[in-house]
Amino acid sequence: MPPQQCTAKLEERIMYNEKFMLVTFELVEPSTLEFKAGQYVSIQVDEAGTRRSYSIASRPDIDHGFELAIDVSPAGVGVQFLQSIPLGTEVSVLAPLGTFVIEDDPTEEAIVLVGTGSGIAPLRSIIFDLLQVKQEKRPITLHWGLRYVDSLFWENEFQDLVERFPNFHFHPVISRAVDGWTLCRGRVTDCLSTHELVPNAGYYLCGGKPMIETVVTLLTDKGIAPEHIHHEKFF
Ligand SMILES: Cc1cc2nc3c(=O)[nH]c(=O)nc-3n(C[C@H](O)[C@H](O)[C@H](O)COP(=O)(O)OP(=O)(O)OC[C@H]3O[C@@H](n4cnc5c(N)ncnc54)[C@H](O)[C@@H]3O)c2cc1C
Repeated sequence: MPPQQCTAKLEERIMYNEKFMLVTFELVEPSTLEFKAGQYVSIQVDEAGTRRSYSIASRPDIDHGFELAIDVSPAGVGVQFLQSIPLGTEVSVLAPLGTFVIEDDPTEEAIVLVGTGSGIAPLRSIIFDLLQVKQEKRPITLHWGLRYVDSLFWENEFQDLVERFPNFHFHPVISRAVDGWTLCRGRVTDCLSTHELVPNAGYYLCGGKPMIETVVTLLTDKGIAPEHIHHEKFF
C-alpha cells in the first residue's frame, strides 16, 4: 500500500506509568487504513509541519484506527504534542510507512522478536497479527527489555498469549530489577545469551541504535546470517 495523507482524531490517552502512554486514534478521512503489522505512521506535530514517526501497536485487521505506545521521556515536540492535545483533536497523518514487517521467507522456521522500551510497539502488532489473525504455528519468541519492573505495561497481555498459544514464548528482561524478580535481568543481549538461540529463525529487532548494534553483533557472532536480521531504529 502506498502511503496516503489521512486525518485521524485522538480518541483516548492512557498513562500506563511515568514513562509510557498509549494513544488511540480513530480515522476520520479516509475512514479506514490498510497497513501491515510492523509499519508506522508519521504525524504532523506542530504548525510548522514538523513530523514524528510512531509505530502502530494495534492489529492491522482493526483498520478504523490505530494505537501507539509512546515513551514520554524524550519530552520533545512530538511527545509534548501527543501529551497535550485534547481528546477529539484531528491530526494530519501520513501512513502506512516502513518495511519492518514479517518477511515471507519459508527458510525462517521461527520468529524471534527483540524490543526495548517503546520498541515493543510494532512487535505487539506483529505478535497479535501472527497469532490471532494468521494462526501462525511457527515458534514465536519475544524478548522485551525495560529498565524497571514497574514500567512493564502489557505484561498481562503477553502472559495471556503464552497461556493460549503454545508456540508463543515471552521473556521480559529488566536491567534494574528489584530483589525477588525471578526472570531475566540485565540487557536483552544477556537474555539472548542465556537462552539457546532458536535455529533458522528470522530475528526482528526494534528500539534504539545502541541496542540494535549490540544485538546484531551478538547474532552475527553466533552465525546468524545478516539477511535473517531485520530491524527498526527509533532513535
Ligand atoms: C520508524 C520510527 C518509529 C518510531 N516509533 C515510535 C514508537 O512507537 N514509540 C515511541 O515512543 N517512539 C517512536 N519513535 C521515536 C519518535 O519518532 C520520536 O523520536 C520520539 O517520540 C521523540 O520525539 P520528540 O519530538 O518528543 O523528541 P526529540 O526532541 O525529537 O528527541 C529528543 C531526543 O530523544 C531521543 N529519543 C527519541 N526517542 C527516544 C526514546 N524512545 N528513548 C530515548 N531517547 C529517545 C532522540 O534521538 C533525541 O536525541 C519512532 C521513530 C522512528 C524513526
